[in-house]
Amino acid sequence: MPNILDSLWNSMALFLSALFFHGMALRSIREKKPAWFQIKFSNEIINYALGIYYGLLGVYFIIRGLPGTDSGIYTDMLLNILIVLHLFSSAGPATIALLLIVAGKLFLGDALFANLIYAFLIIGFHFVCMEVAKLRLSSVQKVVLVKLSAIPLMLFYLHQKIHLLYTINDLPVWMLYFLVSFFITFIIVSAAYYIDTSNKLIYDLQQSTILDPLTGLTNFRHFEKAFEAAFNHATLKKSNLSVIIIDIDYFKRVNDTYGHLVGNGVLSTFSQMLLKISFPPNTVISRIGGEEFAIILPNINVSETEHLAEKIRRKVEKIDVPIVASGSVITISAGIANYDGRNYPNPNELLNAADQALYNAKRNGRNQVHIRETEPVV
Ligand code: GH3
Ligand code: MG
Ligand code: MG
Repeated sequence: MPNILDSLWNSMALFLSALFFHGMALRSIREKKPAWFQIKFSNEIINYALGIYYGLLGVYFIIRGLPGTDSGIYTDMLLNILIVLHLFSSAGPATIALLLIVAGKLFLGDALFANLIYAFLIIGFHFVCMEVAKLRLSSVQKVVLVKLSAIPLMLFYLHQKIHLLYTINDLPVWMLYFLVSFFITFIIVSAAYYIDTSNKLIYDLQQSTILDPLTGLTNFRHFEKAFEAAFNHATLKKSNLSVIIIDIDYFKRVNDTYGHLVGNGVLSTFSQMLLKISFPPNTVISRIGGEEFAIILPNINVSETEHLAEKIRRKVEKIDVPIVASGSVITISAGIANYDGRNYPNPNELLNAADQALYNAKRNGRNQVHIRETEPVV
């Protein structure tokens, strides 16, 4: 019996390390490539990689549980793998892990008939987890339910593997085993919950420092960093970098006539419209002031940038703002400057150039796009 408990503790420690690495990896991917989590495809890839990761961990547990290695108690961890994936990820990655585990069970070891029954039981357990994950229950209730549903599998496995008998004599051992098994699952699920929530919390905090709460666009702080990084990249690669600064025309009038809240509504409708436009890869859209916005566009030339700015200007004219009295529409003015890798000494100068173009657009009658044509001497 101590053997069984030892291997349970060992495998739990290994599982906790695996969870920790998983949390650490997801956190650093989120920090370095935040866009991956916004794109459905890359999100799916990460999820399936997770399924493979836990599937391979399962195979490792199977190998460790083969006769002659350990007492075979590692099967508990296979169930915990499915529980964690179903509760904290989704059915897809859990299915990948299940397939690897079932393959491992069938191809490793020689007790083919027993392994077939085991595979059948664990597939059943997978479907139970899948259904329980959908229920509107607390995580604790879900864990209790799935653990109870695993009892037949454990009865089969322990009898077959470590020869526990279905007798009154062996009842205390069975009870002890089930208790420890429940306890370990709770530790593992709590650790997974802790890692999951703290990662989400860190992500939310990071997001709140770069996002503008009214519009959901990135804020000036993020813009400054992103603009400098884009400028340095363009300098290094001698590639194009465009910036558009947009300012809503006569916005003060909207506020004065309809109130601040209505003004806020216009800012947020405009931002939603910007987010729906398809921009080139690595575009950054920020709100850099009250009714002022900036768009960083790497790798596009002046005429492409002008085309995009015009597209935005025309779309804004069509924005349906029911609160604005008939006849008056929302319009914008925009200023563009383009960097070719050489023509500006630093990001500030480039931004000033776009600002100058915006100023010209305003002075020229508003509702228009201007390009900063003259290039400053470097
Ligand atoms: P122009 O065409 O020259 O840009 O005129 P304008 O009225 O848009 O420009 P001005 O700079 O005179 O006014 C900007 C207004 O934007 C003033 C300010 O009350 C308003 N504003 C700034 N931030 C917010 C905000 O978060 N919400 C709302 N509703 N209004 C804001
Ligand atoms: Mg304005
Ligand atoms: Mg302004």
